Amino acid sequence: LIQLFIPLNALGFVYREIRQALVNVERLFGLLNEPPLVTDAEDAEPLEVRKGEVRFENVHFAYQAARPILHGVSFEIPAGHKVAVVGASGAGKSTLARLLFRFFDVDDGRIVIDGQDIRSVTQDSLREAIGVVPQDTVLFNDTLYRNLAYGRPGATEEEVHRAAKLAHLEQFIESLPDGYQTPVGERGLKLSGGEKQRVAIARVFLKNPPILILDEATSSLDTVSEQVILEALREVSEQRTTLVIAHRLSTVQDADTILVMADGRIVERGDHQQLLAVDGRYAELWNRQQKSGEAESSPDQED
Ligand code: ATP
Repeated sequence: LIQLFIPLNALGFVYREIRQALVNVERLFGLLNEPPLVTDAEDAEPLEVRKGEVRFENVHFAYQAARPILHGVSFEIPAGHKVAVVGASGAGKSTLARLLFRFFDVDDGRIVIDGQDIRSVTQDSLREAIGVVPQDTVLFNDTLYRNLAYGRPGATEEEVHRAAKLAHLEQFIESLPDGYQTPVGERGLKLSGGEKQRVAIARVFLKNPPILILDEATSSLDTVSEQVILEALREVSEQRTTLVIAHRLSTVQDADTILVMADGRIVERGDHQQLLAVDGRYAELWNRQQKSGEAESSPDQED
């Protein structure tokens, strides 16, 4: 009987994980009540990630035909590089992430990973290759351990512990009387924004995808958590092709390239120093944030 029970139990867990994965991803992109809009092509092949280079080629996109959102966006993220997108609220930053994850198909142009148009590959293989650290991570009602292990079903205990350590969660977990077995989620211990983000980072370490989307939190954290998170984010994005959606400017300074978006177009691009030297829109955002103190200021709110 026990032998029968265990697989059923495991099945229940897998089912819950899958359901939760969908909820997480949909919430991440703010799309909870939308029907799926893309389907696999009949001859779709699994994505073959060789280096992990991402290219947006002249991408046009509208959620509704009457209101174009992206107007010919082109950029490249060389394998292992980090590109950050900044700009006013509504400029189209998160839309880039949704399109890379293929929640929607582009209207014109294409998005290519290692030479493969993402419309020609299976969605499963595409999403397998992309890790996401969302703004607000949803935890399900289960132990902290299970919430972490969900990054890669089948991970060993040692792997889960290692991921938690890499995400700078170890100290926090040690401080809990029940440690990894602490129930979390809506009916359990409530984690702070920074702790939840570190859970998401640990999941990415476990999943170990070649491509990463970081959706920076809009709300500010206290300075200590912010430093820990920035450190963990830097580490998790190392060696991965990373697209950072930056609603504030705290994670962009070390990006290889920063794209400044306005009204669905890239209006400036370069690294932090180059953009400051140009003394344009980025420099204006930066100076404004410096003046009012990073913690309070957000380009989202002020443009
Ligand atoms: P923020 O920093 O505030 O998150 P953003 O630059 O990420 O902004 P997007 O979320 O990409 O902006 O949105 C770009 C535009 O697309 C906005 O005008 C928004 O209203 C519109 N938009 C976003 N999602 C949808 C949707 N699901 N349906 C229709 N319009 C949408």
